[in-house]
Amino acid sequence: MVVAIRADLAQDINMEAVVFNGKELTLKYVKDFPIPKIVNDTDVIVKVEYSGICGTDVHIIQGEFPASKERPLAMGHEFSGIITQVGKASVFKVGQKVVVDPNSACHICDHCRSGNYHYCLTAGINSTIGIWRDGGWAEYVLCPQNNVFTLPDDITTEQEAASGRAAASLRGRASGDAAKGTAQTEAPLSTAKKPTKYGSARCARLRLL
Ligand SMILES: [Zn+2]
Ligand SMILES: [Zn+2]
Repeated sequence: MVVAIRADLAQDINMEAVVFNGKELTLKYVKDFPIPKIVNDTDVIVKVEYSGICGTDVHIIQGEFPASKERPLAMGHEFSGIITQVGKASVFKVGQKVVVDPNSACHICDHCRSGNYHYCLTAGINSTIGIWRDGGWAEYVLCPQNNVFTLPDDITTEQEAASGRAAASLRGRASGDAAKGTAQTEAPLSTAKKPTKYGSARCARLRLL
């Protein structure tokens, strides 16, 4: 699935989003999800151009993978787009083409210091954009700038969408059952004690609009 951007809604207060209700395990398309605003000076707002559906998303919707239940959540943790707004202290500029890494680092633990911050037990999977905070199944996403990476001029957001999905699948194949081509995303019910491997050969990214 892709939430494709068809209009500049920056001056509006609501946007389209596909929203997950963690209490009811339901998914709903809405037109009145609030457009995010900059919170911290180093935040940026990304206007989503391509957003993937991951095997982890399926697990979340089925209640097999932990996600925020506090309020309806715009899911989507694999997306690319254009920066439309930057905080006062951000190094990014409006108009830059970017991809978002949904995971954060605590910068202290061994996992983070060895570059494997997706395994971090305090940040990592427990703060993922699109799982614990609003993500890319929406028109706009609030992102800490540490999660944002610019794309080279010769890589489009669409190409990034395809390559990012392929990379996750390869990661899944490497860590799963490559012979069957059905590598599984490890989806623990409790992430408090267990690292999580991302990536699934079942992941799919489609363009709807
Ligand atoms: Zn994923
Ligand atoms: Zn860490």
